[in-house]
Amino acid sequence: MIPLQNSLLEPLATCPFCGVSYSEERLRTLKKDARREVLHATCSQCARAMFFTVERSEQNISCVGIFTDCDAQDAMRFMTRMPLTLDDVLSAHLALEKMGK
Ligand SMILES: [Zn+2]
Repeated sequence: MIPLQNSLLEPLATCPFCGVSYSEERLRTLKKDARREVLHATCSQCARAMFFTVERSEQNISCVGIFTDCDAQDAMRFMTRMPLTLDDVLSAHLALEKMGK
């Protein structure tokens, strides 16, 4: 497997909006296993936040960045919650329908 070195994380080093380097304390690892790492970064200049998912395999390394309005604490909270079910969606729909009457 390709080792994950700092030089391979170069695309994660700067804010894609304003180009300022992320300071180390504003780049947090939310989840990490042998093949996948999820990071959250908040820019000290423009305060925009990004999620980065880095996945490694025998052949390649891929990195996907997603703009988010979650801060690192919210991101961690959402990641540890159970996923929504169809029953949750139906309950919300029924509650909203009831409020509209
Ligand atoms: Zn920025």
